[in-house]
Amino acid sequence: MLLKFEASSELRLVDPSVSLTVLRKIRLSHLPDMTMTSESSGKKCGEGDGKVAGKSQRKVGLVYDETMCKHDTPNGKVDVECPDRIRVIWEKLQLAGVTQRCVVLGGSKAEDKHLKLVHTKKHVNLVKSISTKKKDSRRNKIASQLDSIYLNGGSSEAAYLAAGSVVKVAEKVAEGELDCGFAIVRPPGHHAESDEAMGFCLFNNVAVAASFLLNERPDLDVKKILIVDWDIHHGNGTQKMFWKDSRVLIFSVHRHDHGSFYPFGDDGDFNMVGEGPGEGFNINVPWEQGGCGDADYLAVWNHILIPVTKEFKPDIILLSAGFDAAIGDPLGGCCVTPYGYSVMLKKLMEFAHGKIVLALEGGYNLESLGKSSLACVQVLLEDKQIHGSSETYPLESTRRVIQAVRERLCTYWPSLDASMASNENLKNPSAERNSADALLREVEELKSLMAARDGELEARRKELKAKNKELEANEKELEAGLMLIRAREDVICGLHAKIESLQQERDEAVAKAERIDKELQEDRARSQEFKEDTEFCLSTLRREKELAIMAKNKDLEAKEKELEARLMLVHAREDKIHAKIERLQQERDEAVAKAERIDKELQEDRSRSRVGNGSFAFSQEFYEDMDLDELEPLSPEFNEDMDSEELEPFQVIKKNMERSHKKFIKDMECIKFIAIMAMAGESSGKKIGDCDGKVAGNRQRKVGLIYDETMCKHDTPDGEDHPECPDRIRVIWEKLQLAGVSQRCVVLGSSKAEDKHLQLVHTKDHVNLVKSISTKQKDYRRNRIASQLNSIYLNGGSSEAAYLAAGSVVKLAEKVAEGELDCGFAIVRPPGHHAEADEAMGFCLFNNVAVAASFLLNERPDLGVKKILIVDWDVHHGNGTQKMFWKDPRVLFFSVHRHEYGGFYPAGDDGDYNMVGEGPGEGFNINVPWDQGRCGDADYLAAWDHILIPVAREFNPDVIFLSAGFDAAINDPLGGCCVTPYGYSVMLKKLMEFAQGKIVLALEGGYNLDSIAKSSLACVQVLLEDKQIQGPPEAYPFESTWRAIQAVRKRLCTYWPSLADELSWKLINQKTPTPIILISSSDSETEDDAQGLLDQMSKLSIENPQGTLLENHQVEPASTSWRADLAKVDVWYASFGSNMWKPRFLCYIQGGQVDGLKKVCVGSMDKSPPKETVWETFPHRLFFGRESSVGWGVGGVAFTNPLANLIDQTHMCLYRITLEQFNDVLSQENGLNVDSDSPVFDLAALQLVDNKGSILEAPLNSWYGNVVCLGKERDIPILTMTCTLSAVEKFKSGEIPIRPPAKAYANTLIRGLVEGGRLSKEEAEAYIDKAVSKPL
Ligand SMILES: [Zn+2]
Ligand SMILES: [Zn+2]
Repeated sequence: MLLKFEASSELRLVDPSVSLTVLRKIRLSHLPDMTMTSESSGKKCGEGDGKVAGKSQRKVGLVYDETMCKHDTPNGKVDVECPDRIRVIWEKLQLAGVTQRCVVLGGSKAEDKHLKLVHTKKHVNLVKSISTKKKDSRRNKIASQLDSIYLNGGSSEAAYLAAGSVVKVAEKVAEGELDCGFAIVRPPGHHAESDEAMGFCLFNNVAVAASFLLNERPDLDVKKILIVDWDIHHGNGTQKMFWKDSRVLIFSVHRHDHGSFYPFGDDGDFNMVGEGPGEGFNINVPWEQGGCGDADYLAVWNHILIPVTKEFKPDIILLSAGFDAAIGDPLGGCCVTPYGYSVMLKKLMEFAHGKIVLALEGGYNLESLGKSSLACVQVLLEDKQIHGSSETYPLESTRRVIQAVRERLCTYWPSLDASMASNENLKNPSAERNSADALLREVEELKSLMAARDGELEARRKELKAKNKELEANEKELEAGLMLIRAREDVICGLHAKIESLQQERDEAVAKAERIDKELQEDRARSQEFKEDTEFCLSTLRREKELAIMAKNKDLEAKEKELEARLMLVHAREDKIHAKIERLQQERDEAVAKAERIDKELQEDRSRSRVGNGSFAFSQEFYEDMDLDELEPLSPEFNEDMDSEELEPFQVIKKNMERSHKKFIKDMECIKFIAIMAMAGESSGKKIGDCDGKVAGNRQRKVGLIYDETMCKHDTPDGEDHPECPDRIRVIWEKLQLAGVSQRCVVLGSSKAEDKHLQLVHTKDHVNLVKSISTKQKDYRRNRIASQLNSIYLNGGSSEAAYLAAGSVVKLAEKVAEGELDCGFAIVRPPGHHAEADEAMGFCLFNNVAVAASFLLNERPDLGVKKILIVDWDVHHGNGTQKMFWKDPRVLFFSVHRHEYGGFYPAGDDGDYNMVGEGPGEGFNINVPWDQGRCGDADYLAAWDHILIPVAREFNPDVIFLSAGFDAAINDPLGGCCVTPYGYSVMLKKLMEFAQGKIVLALEGGYNLDSIAKSSLACVQVLLEDKQIQGPPEAYPFESTWRAIQAVRKRLCTYWPSLADELSWKLINQKTPTPIILISSSDSETEDDAQGLLDQMSKLSIENPQGTLLENHQVEPASTSWRADLAKVDVWYASFGSNMWKPRFLCYIQGGQVDGLKKVCVGSMDKSPPKETVWETFPHRLFFGRESSVGWGVGGVAFTNPLANLIDQTHMCLYRITLEQFNDVLSQENGLNVDSDSPVFDLAALQLVDNKGSILEAPLNSWYGNVVCLGKERDIPILTMTCTLSAVEKFKSGEIPIRPPAKAYANTLIRGLVEGGRLSKEEAEAYIDKAVSKPL
């Protein structure tokens, strides 16, 4: 533990930036110890002093130069390698009186050529120039790039002096002018490498001197140099410089701590033995730990250095004399005493004739530095050795290290071979010494413990500081959070206000609805009154009529009696005449017989007398003689009696009666109609007035009607209520009768379908099933069969009804096709359009319309019907009909229905607009799928005008079938739409213009009895060509309707060229953005509308499935919780500026920048690219403004007016991204931090823009702080971000400048438009020019 701590503390301390206080503390903490030692050694010094007086023959050179103190930290901070280091040595030597006994030399600057013996030219020049004025500004930067180096104006000179001084002393010793010497220099040198200053060292003083002797002064005959480096740090520089040089034996003993001690790494390892010729001439003794003392060093001396030196026989010894292994040194962590140093030096004195040059290296405890230096100089002076502390044992690790070094080097130095023969020497068995030693070691252990504790305390302090900082950071974060919360509170307040205003709006709407309701009730009461009045009139009239008839009857009875009497008279006269005639006939017969007899006699006479002419004359005479006057004059007598006097007034009365009866009937019809219309509450006074004219109008069209009560037998088996109930057709029939229209139609009896006709579209199995379903045998199985079918009930009347329904439509169709009828309506049930070839479903058993259409095409080719249009306006998709003519181009099937992406009955994809038919039938199947309920007249008529009618014109059908379900009618319980009778009448009227008006309506769905009756009546009136009833004021289709229509047109325009043109903006803009506007602007507020309004209001309340608005806005501490929620929601981000270029937009998603963009974008948290890209044009105004932007420099940037208009168009590129990504884009666009605790634009905001349909002034006071909803694309909201409306006003007034865009920005827009395939380059340029030049 202890060692580990020391190592780490050392690590910190080597860093020159370590705070001064730490260093001071370390020095101070060791001071008492040092004082103690100095006291104890002081005595020894005293003893030594005595010896100073002894003979001193040796010439010891000393170099000291105050100039070297100029090298210091640039800012005056105290560094461990401080100028005082050499001052204290010099003072110590002076005080001890040893300088006086030495040859004191002045400092000497090194020559460049000598420095370049070991350093590169570049390095020498750098050190030389480092203190020049030119380098003033750069010096600190250079130093900071070096390892543990500071530099100032005095550094160059000091470095030159340090190196030069060592060279000087070495030269003098080699020359023999001095015996030995000590260069008290700084900066130190042994870490300096050939091309690099490091570890406080600029030039490698010792290496320069060694090289100088070897290379520059061969005359001095120095051939082998031993460099001993006892500095606690490894002499890495020196080692490298003589790595391959066998002339220099380098011996370094140092803390290594397995490479974790400065200078870190493997260089100081014992395996580093030199290379090439230098192999074996580099000896490292690496301590594994701190705490080494005299015993350890001396053991190394005895067992490695001394034996090797004996073998090497150096000519001179250079000693890198760092004293940082000394006891108390703040960096070294070892405990070599001055005594220890003196013994080590003494042992070296025995070689090279004592030619030793000491050069100061490290050593940072000024006290021990001074004492150790003194001890060494005293050895050089061969003063009597000072007493050392009793010998201690080397550390266990020391023994290990020595063993390893010896093993590694014994091949080069045989003297190391003997495997620790002298191992015993490492242990001193002296018990006395041991006890003293033990004490000393205890003291030292205590010291190091204290040092350790100091270090620990320091570490704790640092920890505390770090914690403090952390706390401060936390506090700041909390403060920021608090601010955010406050901001959020403001937002919530704003939203509260919005909610309140919305609630107020809602309340107002509810009040309005209530008022309307009240008015309605009043209306109803009025109509009730009217009804009662009418009924009263009716009964009065009836009574009057009855009385009149009775009076007339009496009259007539009297006349009758009179006439009867006269008749009897006439009869009597007749009898008389008859008798007369009989008598005359008898007389004539007698006369004739007489004449014949006479004639016979005459002929006999003639033959006798031959006279011939006499007979004729006789007969003539005879007739002339007949008395005709005997007959009574009959006719004048009769005429006198009857015509002139009595018959004429009778006939007049009769005629008058007939006329008044007719008028009465007519009046009755009219009154009935008025009453019905009033009861229905659907028509205004005007319509009632109109009706009179209509009834009176002439009608040539022959309209067929089929109704048969038998079809009412089909019912639920258990009598349960069911929407598809028998009353459906009853109410229609009654309505038509009451309205007096059935009387004007040709009413046909029903007819059962033939099996062979049914099998034109159904399978034999299916026909047989339906046929048998009502038989007794099937009684017990019927319910089970029905339960296996989709939405089907069956009873004993089902078979017959199904046969009648299909057969009736066939019959009607046949008569219309034949021309016997112009058109007709088959009021049949069960309905048919869901029935498929092999399956009954959706209340349908046989597909009535399909059977009839197929019958005309296949069974009656003689009628010339070749093309049939089937229009299915039932609110449900006509899946059965679609399938039956899927590949048949003779039948164009058009169905408009609720689809809701396959969620509405009959669920699935069949009703999708992509289902266009197949093979030859491709293009002959048209589905218009509504995305929602609520569709009304405007929506249906838009589909008529923009799809059905143009296609019908192209197709030119021979006959039209209408699957006339009325379940899209207002108030239908299943449909949820709101088509009025007027709407149906207009749709039908538009179809009457085709196929010469040959239209066959067949009832399908429709489950509100009132609505289906009224709608049916309206349709029959259209068939009769009655004057059209008036409709409600115009409303606009929903936006979703335009979307559906556009999708259908796009899908089908290849088959029907009339659909190819794009619908104009003006047209599509006529949409119903919010249901409120539709309701409030409507004059015909009926109960239904009021209900619709209430529905809308309930939808308007700002709630979402996850919870209320408030919950959504409650501040959550977790910063990322919102992301998961928003990542689930897709939006279209519509870009109109530089983001139209995809690579530029991707910067907002994936981070980075593109050409011309002057800032780097951070990107979104979710880097996934957009799921889809779509181009669209919006009726908004694009313009450029503001002076300059961060991203693009000087020039305007793009904005779009949040308000739409009819003239302008802005191209926008729509990227489908998540709402989470949209928030990140919004943040980046507005210079906000992406890593925010809450979304800028959350689900509630989305709901708001979605409902409001336009603008949210997002709470951002920035350029693009306004999120605008441009509508929807495939039901996904399209959002863009632009300036606020108030900013637009400021642009207009000039308060914010309008500016053309910077070139780079404009180019990015153009690239976006061109690469997106939207515009050509020329068009894109013109587009931008226009936006720039046109005044806002
Ligand atoms: Zn050192
Ligand atoms: Zn239906």
